[in-house]
Amino acid sequence: MSSVLVIGAGGVGSVAVHKMAQLSGVFSHITLASRTLAKCDAIAASVKARTGVTITTATLDADDVAATTALIRSVKPKLVVNLALPYQDLAIMDACLAAGAHYMDTANYEPRDEAKFEYAWQWAYQDRFKAAGLMAVLGSGFDPGVTSVFTTYARKHLLDRIDTLDILDCNGGDHGHPFATNFNPEINIREVTAPSRHWENGQWIEGLALSFKQVFDFDRIGPRDMYLMYHEELESLAKFYPEINRIRFWMTFGAAYLKHLEVLQNVGMTRIDPVMFQGREIIPIEFLKALLPEPASLGPVTHGKTNIGVIATGQKDGKPKTVYILNICDHQEAYAETGNQAVSYTTGVPAMIGAALMLTGQWSGAGVFNMEQLDPDPFMAMLNTHGLPWSVKDLPAPLDF
Ligand code: NDP
Repeated sequence: MSSVLVIGAGGVGSVAVHKMAQLSGVFSHITLASRTLAKCDAIAASVKARTGVTITTATLDADDVAATTALIRSVKPKLVVNLALPYQDLAIMDACLAAGAHYMDTANYEPRDEAKFEYAWQWAYQDRFKAAGLMAVLGSGFDPGVTSVFTTYARKHLLDRIDTLDILDCNGGDHGHPFATNFNPEINIREVTAPSRHWENGQWIEGLALSFKQVFDFDRIGPRDMYLMYHEELESLAKFYPEINRIRFWMTFGAAYLKHLEVLQNVGMTRIDPVMFQGREIIPIEFLKALLPEPASLGPVTHGKTNIGVIATGQKDGKPKTVYILNICDHQEAYAETGNQAVSYTTGVPAMIGAALMLTGQWSGAGVFNMEQLDPDPFMAMLNTHGLPWSVKDLPAPLDF
């Protein structure tokens, strides 16, 4: 029985809190804090209506380390789950160290003025968390998160060696808007417009953003165009699995999404540097975010499924073997259960699971941990029982591209 402080009342925070409330034997008391109190209160009302559980809410600017430290000291959670934006990661880690709470997040720290997608800043907290006897778990969402757990499970149970790894992320959902993003638009667009990068034979190979495409037939969705891109778990997978020769990440995009993105990029609306407008500085991508539908508003209108998994090729008992571990999640089922679409659901459920494993001591230690360093078995078991069941297929051959 332990108390948790969740920071961030977006789609992911909403799902995580709903799922925690379903597990009140582990999460004895839940506090949800975010910049806008009304969003926390709306989630609290939904949690009460759906589960009968009362959660506490609070206003917080998590960029303010002193304010976050004060809130942690007054709430006294065992664990702080950071589901705000990647910009807040370091400030919240500092507050956890100051107030003595464990830390978990779903996305690596990003400076506001540069799209980096690197763990270096957070890995630099290793000694401080170790010395404080506290645990920080990085990236307990789906990707990063479950994709690393799938890989670790494959390496533990299915393959003696992994030679190549491909992560395939397909959102086959349709929300009916001409252009919208399924999670925070600023982070999503920064990620998609970054140069592609994959790991091959001990080095990073870079290419132009969205310049390399393949068609893949996704189970229960059908054939989709998927594009090679950089994604943050590639860095931790390459670090913790030096045996893997090639690690790639693919994500599907429809033609309409890409056309809008191209135009927005060409006119400068995706820029993350400040520009002067009517005597004051604005950041174009932040202005664009204000115009786009809130990801949390897509729940009722999104239909279809997500299909995310990893294909690992290697050796088992001296013979070549290829395995595919995947989860399929339905947008409308996710909405019916939590009021949020599947992209928030597939991130919020693993956040709840990571938090539960830390609170119950099944995952423990002092220092900063990535998902690859932790036992995949209890996490895989909870995916099956908490809404994200997975399956394993043996593929007859490795991917031929
Ligand atoms: P949203 O934009 O919907 O929600 C973010 C929330 O954080 C909002 O409620 C926002 O408040 C709040 N927030 C922002 N800044 C602050 C601050 N300074 N202090 C307090 N609260 C703040 O995003 P999502 O819910 O879609 O995503 C949440 C996180 O999950 C992001 O870091 C995202 O990158 C990550 N993610 C990870 C995935 C994975 O698979 N690993 C996949 C999808 C998302 P307000 O509403 O007032 O702006």
